[in-house]
Amino acid sequence: MSFRGTESNGPAERRFDRRSLLKAAGATALTTSLIPATAGVARAKEAATVDAIVIGAGYAGGTVARELALQGLKPLVLEARNRIGGRIWTSTFAGAQVEVGGSWLGPQQPLIHKELQRYNRSTFEDVVAEQMVLPGDQGFEVLPPEDAFAALGQLWGEFYAGSENYFERPQEPLFRSDLLASVDPLSLSDRLGQLQLSPTELKWLNSETSVYSGGPSTRGALTAMAQWIQLSGGSYGTYSTTMSLRPVGGMTAVLQAMFNESQADIRLNSPVKKVTESGGLVTVETTAGAKFVSPVVVVATPANVWKNITFSPGLPAAHTQATTQGIGVPHATKMWVQVQGNVPATAAQAGEGSPILMMVPQQQLADGRLFICFTGPSLNVSNATDVRAAVQQFLPGATVLRYQAMEWAKDPYAGGGWGLRRPNQLLQLFPSIEQPHGRIVFAGADIATGWHGAFIEGAIESGFRAAQQAAALA
Ligand SMILES: Cc1cc2nc3c(=O)[nH]c(=O)nc-3n(C[C@H](O)[C@H](O)[C@H](O)COP(=O)(O)OP(=O)(O)OC[C@H]3O[C@@H](n4cnc5c(N)ncnc54)[C@H](O)[C@@H]3O)c2cc1C
Repeated sequence: MSFRGTESNGPAERRFDRRSLLKAAGATALTTSLIPATAGVARAKEAATVDAIVIGAGYAGGTVARELALQGLKPLVLEARNRIGGRIWTSTFAGAQVEVGGSWLGPQQPLIHKELQRYNRSTFEDVVAEQMVLPGDQGFEVLPPEDAFAALGQLWGEFYAGSENYFERPQEPLFRSDLLASVDPLSLSDRLGQLQLSPTELKWLNSETSVYSGGPSTRGALTAMAQWIQLSGGSYGTYSTTMSLRPVGGMTAVLQAMFNESQADIRLNSPVKKVTESGGLVTVETTAGAKFVSPVVVVATPANVWKNITFSPGLPAAHTQATTQGIGVPHATKMWVQVQGNVPATAAQAGEGSPILMMVPQQQLADGRLFICFTGPSLNVSNATDVRAAVQQFLPGATVLRYQAMEWAKDPYAGGGWGLRRPNQLLQLFPSIEQPHGRIVFAGADIATGWHGAFIEGAIESGFRAAQQAAALA
């Protein structure tokens, strides 16, 4: 099972199975506008014809559904899980509202801010670190955030030097494809190797390159992260603000509002297994045998799981490459931890290979502070003793009251975590990956042009593009 939800309550540990957690999340995320999956099954054999079919109810699918509805179409949304949101999942932990998937928004992401405005929702500033723990020459050191920030800013400045040229227009990543040819093959690890870094400086940087790569920094492309830096405003400082804001009411709330406005027919628990185009129509079949027919289908699932759907005719080369190689990272485990007592808001990073690569402080509750930890592949999150030891590396003597981890890469409907392109994927996959395949259109943060991969901003952007393409085919 992909969800390793382990909460330890003092010495006696309590383990939650996936079902109970899904139930809890479902209660948060769902409203009465959703139609039970059984309705889909009942109509299975009729192969109902609909205006448009959207596969996947994440932010990309929600944007497509709402935009098609605004054009007068009535879309059918087929979602594999028992909730909307996909890699966004507002849930609870230690009695507090938390995000199991994506948490943060940046001020420089206009599309999500327009959506917030549209649905009268506001944001709040997330907790600001009071101290920072970083690897030193002899173990971890505690630094004032301003000092750590200044030093990190300098190092990242060197790391991303030149990206202002090869991403002269970061919203149009191929604009300087002439300059990209020599940079696109580089991994994040290759770039680290080009700099003259001390062993400690290397750890300061490779904690982050490893987190984003979902394991070894050899996996992630330099151009993937460099594009984000340029989109954010060009520096480590501007990029840091992409983790500064959170929407009041949680990340799922805006998506729910989008689906409500769309009035789409949403069928939960409806994993799609087959998409067949023939004679100007597309037939979509779920694993339960329900069939739906439409002039156009939008596939808004993660790129990593396209391979779990049988497409006829088969996918084009770029799509096959994307789903075989993967864009969603192979390790993305987000762990919520509560540490007993009044604990300083501590941010921490550790070098590649460490059990916890990055720790982000969250709210102080009456009985202890919450933290988000992004773990490395070396930590077995099922082992509470190992988890405690890993947290104590940053907070010596800390008592871990409880924790809960979600292993996104093991989730069958994500097949990976946030997206991060591999070396060469920018020039090899784009722009073909954004083109329709006959009457089948593709959407998703993984294949966005701008804020790709790790941002719902990209999911929304790709949803607008896909809705336009789909409307032309409907
Ligand atoms: C741990 C983590 C932290 C993140 N942090 C942030 C953050 O702080 N800020 C931010 O902006 N972004 C963040 N992201 C990225 C963000 O969550 C994603 O980019 C975005 O949610 C992707 O949206 P999407 O609609 O493209 O895909 P998804 O959200 O994955 O939606 C796809 C949907 O398709 C469904 N599906 C899959 N297969 C099938 C099938 N066969 N049939 C029917 N349905 C199917 C899935 O169940 C899912 O609901 C994070 C992601 C992760 C995993």
